[in-house]
Amino acid sequence: MQCSTVRKGSECGFMTNKGCNFNGGQCLPILDKCEGCSRTVKIEEAVFCSVAPNPAAKWARGACNFATHLEKKPVEEQQKVNPLKASKRAAASRK
Ligand code: SF4
Repeated sequence: MQCSTVRKGSECGFMTNKGCNFNGGQCLPILDKCEGCSRTVKIEEAVFCSVAPNPAAKWARGACNFATHLEKKPVEEQQKVNPLKASKRAAASRK
């Protein structure tokens, strides 16, 4: 349903016939950490997030998972080592 509070006209899952269903009744502005993210939308004087009504909640447990302006570090693959096979390999190399 289309928002009729702070982001008028944009589609929102929190909007109902009775008004905004989000805690607080409207979207909250972005944080300083959000600067540079392409998901920000400026509406009148305030800047909001297009995917999260409360940006502070997205940053509460580390970096926001929707952020587009953060460098993602490649996850190093850790090779699983079977301790039994490693022991046998070590024993074989000692011979
Ligand atoms: S996606 Fe995350 S970093 Fe980007 S504006 Fe929204 S809350 Fe901020």
